[in-house]
Amino acid sequence: MSWILNFQLSPEEAQNDAFIRKLISNEQQFKNEIFDYKWHKKSIDARSRNIKINASFLVTLKNEIVVEKKSFFEVQDVSKSEEFAIIGAGPAGLFAALRAIELGLKPIVFERGKDVRSRRRDLAKLNKESIVNPESNYCFGEGGAGTYSDGKLYTRSKKRGDLLKTLEWFVEFGADPMILVDAHPHIGTNKLPHVIVAMREKIIECGGEVHFDSKLTDIFFENNEITGLEINHSAHYNFKNIILATGHSARDIFHLLNKKGIEIQAKGFALGVRIEHTQDQIDKIQYHGRLSDDTLTPASYALVTQVEDKGVYSFCMCPGGIIAPCATNQDEVVTNGWSPSKRNNPYANSGIVVTIEPSDFPNYEKNPFVCLEFQQEVERNCWEAAGKTQKVPVQCLQDFIDGKISKEIPRSSYQPGFVSLDLNKILPEIISKRLKKAFLDFGKKMNGFLTNDAVLHAPESRTSSPVQVPRNPETFEHIRVKGLYPCAEGAGYAGGIISAAIDGMKCVEAIITKLAN
Ligand SMILES: Cc1cc2nc3c(=O)[nH]c(=O)nc-3n(C[C@H](O)[C@H](O)[C@H](O)COP(=O)(O)OP(=O)(O)OC[C@H]3O[C@@H](n4cnc5c(N)ncnc54)[C@H](O)[C@@H]3O)c2cc1C
Repeated sequence: MSWILNFQLSPEEAQNDAFIRKLISNEQQFKNEIFDYKWHKKSIDARSRNIKINASFLVTLKNEIVVEKKSFFEVQDVSKSEEFAIIGAGPAGLFAALRAIELGLKPIVFERGKDVRSRRRDLAKLNKESIVNPESNYCFGEGGAGTYSDGKLYTRSKKRGDLLKTLEWFVEFGADPMILVDAHPHIGTNKLPHVIVAMREKIIECGGEVHFDSKLTDIFFENNEITGLEINHSAHYNFKNIILATGHSARDIFHLLNKKGIEIQAKGFALGVRIEHTQDQIDKIQYHGRLSDDTLTPASYALVTQVEDKGVYSFCMCPGGIIAPCATNQDEVVTNGWSPSKRNNPYANSGIVVTIEPSDFPNYEKNPFVCLEFQQEVERNCWEAAGKTQKVPVQCLQDFIDGKISKEIPRSSYQPGFVSLDLNKILPEIISKRLKKAFLDFGKKMNGFLTNDAVLHAPESRTSSPVQVPRNPETFEHIRVKGLYPCAEGAGYAGGIISAAIDGMKCVEAIITKLAN
């Protein structure tokens, strides 16, 4: 038999095994008993000055045999099973492939980018020499946009079973089991690539295939049924089912679909800036003057407000992180953030973004690319303004509000470099005007947030897909072309690693259902 025991501990007590054992032994059922415990759930309650850890432990008596579940993933040989294609080896593509193996289908994954190790060299060139490889960057390559990220594993999805399965698979392939316990789990850029490689190796070991440097360049269908695809403008393959999990940055895919007459629609997304404080500043605000340490993880924040009928909110906050150059082409600047597992960099960054809807633009009903064109234009303007390299336009927060170019930029973790400019002149008014008002509001919500010591980097623009590929909510197939499964973030059905992974699995389950009928 096992028990769940809940306590409120100080951060120091939560690290102290002897203290926790003593606490448990005080409970009636464990008096004079030998027992074992492990963490079940953990969250920080920093609402008051007296910061507490909400601790939940699973406790068992030592003389009881506890049958631990050995593996979260059901292995089977699918080398001779029915084949289908997955385009993109991001979280959606990889989890789709793993789910296919569990369910007895053979996944053939085509990924335009390189394997994790080769990809790393392209990221070094991007950071040090400002060279963007359009096939291998922070968005494209093995593991997708999630590989070199903070690896925050939160989702707004209410389906606990799906969420748990996804987290369990991350653990199966090497992530720290504490992600099953933490209220806000994350993996970190240093650990994610190993997890991704372990997933790929398992897919191949089970008889699936993963092909790198393999870009989808055409899709074929007859009588509204998928018949095959083309890779790298040369190789043709026959497939009846294709999961399209190419992410929100594969603009060529949106254009390909449109050219082929496969319906797509403009979709709302969000755009703004990435703000960087020091981690100490954020810790002091969130932890009532205290700094994070071995017992208290670096603090994060989540902010949201409404300005003139539009939501403005913090996006993908990275405590102890770095701002990354996430362009997928040479003639644009894009920012996002990552952090290592320990979140031990001295900076705290977050996107602060304004929601954009297709109806913000004229002709939106006729042009599925209105939001994408807006996104592209802002990215290009930032690139041009900062000198047509990967340098990013920056401005201190108060100076942005006052419309003054910053004389001195206190710091930036963005490696390719920065240029001090007035972001009011680069960003469209629909964004800058709302950002200013939102920052004033955030300054009231978090005392100390509104400081000229915080630096804005522009733009934060790849928050979600600016295009939707419409699908049938029952079958998950494209509304007209059967056998085409628009999947996850690129198609507009996910936002973030976990929801993308879940959508990848759901698309495979939909294929299985179709094959069974
Ligand atoms: C720097 C950074 C940090 C992030 N941090 C977090 C975080 O902490 N937590 C979180 O939840 N989310 C984070 N995200 C977002 C997260 O990575 C994405 O939501 C998630 O990866 C989407 O998964 P996906 O599989 O739908 O698409 P993607 O991960 O974008 O994968 C799509 C894949 O398809 C490939 N592809 C594209 N076109 C083609 C083609 N024509 N042929 C073949 N392959 C193609 C791409 O190369 C890519 O590998 C971050 C993103 C970035 C860039």
